[in-house]
Amino acid sequence: MTGKELDYIAQSVASGHISGNGPFTKKCQVYLEKKFGAKKVLLTTSCTAALEIAAVLCNVGPGDEIIMPSFTFVSTANAFLLRGARPVFVDINEDTLNINADLIEDRITEKTKVIAPIHYAGVACDMDKVLEIARRYSLIVIEDAAQAVCAKYKGRYLGTIADLGTYSFHESKNFNCGEGGALVINDERFIKRAETIAEKGTNRGEFRRGEVDKYTWVDIGSSYLPSDILAAYLYAQLEQMERIMTIREAIYCYYSKHLSPLSEKGLLRLPRVPSWSQQNYHMFYVLLPTQELRDKLIGDLKRNGILAVFHYVPLHTSPVGRKLGYSDGDFPVTENLSKRLLRLPLYNDLKEFEQEKVLKVISDVLSKC
Ligand SMILES: *Cc1c(COP(=O)(O)O)cnc(C)c1O
Repeated sequence: MTGKELDYIAQSVASGHISGNGPFTKKCQVYLEKKFGAKKVLLTTSCTAALEIAAVLCNVGPGDEIIMPSFTFVSTANAFLLRGARPVFVDINEDTLNINADLIEDRITEKTKVIAPIHYAGVACDMDKVLEIARRYSLIVIEDAAQAVCAKYKGRYLGTIADLGTYSFHESKNFNCGEGGALVINDERFIKRAETIAEKGTNRGEFRRGEVDKYTWVDIGSSYLPSDILAAYLYAQLEQMERIMTIREAIYCYYSKHLSPLSEKGLLRLPRVPSWSQQNYHMFYVLLPTQELRDKLIGDLKRNGILAVFHYVPLHTSPVGRKLGYSDGDFPVTENLSKRLLRLPLYNDLKEFEQEKVLKVISDVLSKC
């Protein structure tokens, strides 16, 4: 917590409006719209929910194909699978672990409707290339910017660049309210329908604004609005966005500085950030030379009381991926890097002596190589 969370929650409860679309929800939405230059931001119960709304907005269904990396969280794929559409995976770029934009065009068929890149670790995809391909084939682009809140591509905030963007405010992300998310709408034609879908398929938004005299069922939809109590917590975090970023930057840079000698010796690889990307210090990961070494390091860290985790099991090698017809070997870069990746602890109140402990275990393990 950054300070004002409980105060704002108390205010929310006192206001009497603790369901969705209350005063704190509006504050969060306006804050994000202004700061990021987004046409419309709608708070949701999660990034997963925002992706589900996005999938409905794209009108995809059985027979349609959605291009995305296999190296992502399940929600990117599930949102479309729930509509009956098929995720079509593409390998990642060795440098950023983002979708390899040079491989997208080969995967486009007459069934392709959407490209859904994710900005892994808050480091931007090559958006110019993705958008150029999308324009040529008339495809919708959804940025899964779950990890990329407040990060930029060539000076523009991630999530605001494509037709639609999605953010996560899950507790594991930079700015959080436990569980939460947002849909960023950059193409105006989606705004009204997005509100309807998030309001359980009713035109309650128009009713609230006095545009209609009763509200009714007008579309498909679900319950996607977070309680205003959660928005109150989130608003306290958003107000501290710059401070949180500064803290995370310092932690990131400390790891980076102290691991660079090991990196120069070729014992591990540090994250690479292209010049177009202004990252948000969401994550610090290292790539070890082998999976064996990665797994040994996880064990040694654990024995020292340090939780370090890896992700993702590539979606194409998961049980659902196999059912979709994928198999091992389909995306070699994804498979190789995901086996060697390790995330180091990075949270706002991580102390320098704790980082030193992490660094010591890493150098002890790698010095024996
Ligand atoms: C965290 C994450 C999500 C899911 O976010 P929730 O808010 O937990 O639903 C989706 N996509 C990516 C890339 C993520 O990192």
